[in-house]
Amino acid sequence: MTTSTLANNYQATKEKISLLEQRYQRHTDEVCLIAVSKTRSVEEIRSIASLGQRHFGENYVQEALDKITQITDIPLIWHFIGPIQKNKTKLIAEHFDWVHSVDREVVATRLNDQRPKSLPKLNICLQINIDNEKSKSGIPTDELSALAKSIAELPNLTLRGLMAIPTATDDIAQQMSAFKKMNVLFSELKSHYNQVDTLSMGMSNDFETAIANGSTMIRIGTALFGPRNYS
Ligand SMILES: *Cc1c(COP(=O)(O)O)cnc(C)c1O
Repeated sequence: MTTSTLANNYQATKEKISLLEQRYQRHTDEVCLIAVSKTRSVEEIRSIASLGQRHFGENYVQEALDKITQITDIPLIWHFIGPIQKNKTKLIAEHFDWVHSVDREVVATRLNDQRPKSLPKLNICLQINIDNEKSKSGIPTDELSALAKSIAELPNLTLRGLMAIPTATDDIAQQMSAFKKMNVLFSELKSHYNQVDTLSMGMSNDFETAIANGSTMIRIGTALFGPRNYS
């Protein structure tokens, strides 16, 4: 994608987020944009970073490390948003600032144990399988309180909130239903843990509905960088 198309997409997306914050009575800059850069090049990341973007999301550990280690001159904030294999937790703990896709205690414990002491605590969101899809990662809602409790006790992690990837659909009512459920779970979690402030939901196709329903972080790939060739 050309630098000018990318710049146009970026400005348009930022403007749309501002507009939606106003439309849905959200605070200014309450919704954080994560640029999902899986499959995108270092040049594309640099080009969007030069416009002021700091938060980037990646799904594949090795692909992400190639990029993270090449961009050390800009203070980017890296979010791991993909499914987590147990044998990849060390690399994630060493190189990321946030992990959105935690869905089992063993993974959280490993991230905690492997987080270097020289780094700040690792920010954690628990992934909820909000539509109970067989093929999808995430915990069912009835496991949330137990997992949150054990993670909140781990000293090198900070439990920040929840993440979900609802079933992809253009049906606004169906989008609403999943995001509303997430917002209820989020309010409930916040009432138990002071540090919880993050509801990570909304992608290119559904971020308006997500913002209307309390999202504080949206994860956007296609609307910024154009269609992907894989996943
Ligand atoms: C790929 C991906 C996104 C971005 O999706 P788009 O539809 O391209 O905006 C967001 N979240 C997760 C977890 C992803 O894997």
